[in-house]
Amino acid sequence: MNLQERFNLQKSAFREQNPMPLAMRKEHLHLLDRILNDHEKEWIETLHKDFQKPAFETFITEISIVRKEIEYHLKNLQKWTKPERVKSFVGNMPSRDYLYPQAYGVCLIIGAWNYPVNLILQPLVGALSAGNCVVLKPSELASHTAALLTELVERYFDPSVLTVVQGDGEISAELTAMPFDLIMYTGSSQVGRLVMKAAAENLTPVILELGGKSPAIVHDDADMTVTARRIWWGKCLNAGQTCVAPDYVMVHESVKEVFIAASKRVLGEFYPDASGANPQTRFADMARIINDRHFNRITKLFTSKEAALGGFSDAETRFIEPTLVEVDREHPLMSEEIFGPVLPLITYRNSDEVVEFVNSGETPLAFYAFTKNQAFAQDLVQRIPFGGGCVNDTIAQLANLSLPFGGQGNSGMGAYHGKTGFEAFSRKKPVVHRSFSLDVPVKYPPYSESKLGWIRRLLKFA
Ligand code: NAD
Repeated sequence: MNLQERFNLQKSAFREQNPMPLAMRKEHLHLLDRILNDHEKEWIETLHKDFQKPAFETFITEISIVRKEIEYHLKNLQKWTKPERVKSFVGNMPSRDYLYPQAYGVCLIIGAWNYPVNLILQPLVGALSAGNCVVLKPSELASHTAALLTELVERYFDPSVLTVVQGDGEISAELTAMPFDLIMYTGSSQVGRLVMKAAAENLTPVILELGGKSPAIVHDDADMTVTARRIWWGKCLNAGQTCVAPDYVMVHESVKEVFIAASKRVLGEFYPDASGANPQTRFADMARIINDRHFNRITKLFTSKEAALGGFSDAETRFIEPTLVEVDREHPLMSEEIFGPVLPLITYRNSDEVVEFVNSGETPLAFYAFTKNQAFAQDLVQRIPFGGGCVNDTIAQLANLSLPFGGQGNSGMGAYHGKTGFEAFSRKKPVVHRSFSLDVPVKYPPYSESKLGWIRRLLKFA
């Protein structure tokens, strides 16, 4: 089937079965869970083939996270799908007013390569639980994962409900030009703009999950060992190819050396060099850079001589050692999202300087502050716009399904995860239910001053 035929099939299926019965949605979620659970080993092997993602990370950041999302939706779906009663307007009384969750219809979900399972299947949970039909377009850069996804979706799902289209940016652009009822895109801000432009032609709403430079602020009172551990964990996870990874650190100038020393200790703990082995063996627990283009892009941003820690890289295996570079604010490492295990460090003297610097750039997807001083943390959290964040940790905001995940401006629009995922893929359709009784003719013509007087009095109670 070509793209148009697949789209048409889903359009007519949606028309026939809307609203999709709860039992059918649950069945879809169970099927998705089987795709993950029954094939865990294949996923782990496949992601290792794509960029040597360690099994541990595939389990915690891809498989278990999507399975938790499925479990959460299965538990709450009945409650979420019920029309929600809201207060009635006094001028409409008697009435009963409701918000009906309404699936959008046929949705397109475009995923990025860096979490090739999570970023396409976690939004899918919300889309299916809201009762949509869905076309998935995984990233071509994680090609083995895209192939496994296609094979398993074809095996478990009817294409009238769920189908996968593989291909590059050209295919993706072709899809975004089609009149989908909703498009969700995860990837770079640059392509996000193209997706939104294409969607505008059809007035298709979009959810954009983009990236940017997410700062980690290290204050002078922070527990430096724990801080360094949590920042480097966030930076080394997926080899720094994480949209919410700490992109750079801003360290209080009085503790710069302490932070560097703690970083050295922590990286030694994470990746012990027990046998004096070469970096390839020492860093078996770290993913590799996805392709040569990204490897060359990252390694061009700094020289190994500049590195305060690390600095080694190997083009053949696309390996970059966790690297700390002290920089000034104009350094190339501060000019774009790094998306690799390289951490530039700049210093600050006071909170105003931090606020001014971060707010002078694009709105980050994530923000992290490390301090024991609640007032300092509150001040930054309140004055700096960002997608989501943590005080005294990194990436932890993604683990809680009660917290929506999304950005603002350059880092995106809209959000998902947990109930927000269900809401992202459904519209709240407002309906006023009235009866035929009590038809007071005050709003009908012919109009008069006394009718207006009644309405003025009535509005005081509204
Ligand atoms: P990518 O290269 O995998 O591209 C993402 C998707 O866009 C792919 O499926 C690709 O085929 C498609 N695409 C390419 N050109 C297109 C076009 N003209 N029209 C429509 N679709 C097109 O991913 P990437 O862009 O390299 O991802 C890295 C960026 O994504 C980083 O900035 C990162 O921060 C961001 N990101 C954000 C999130 C988030 O959840 N907010 C998650 C992961 C990555």
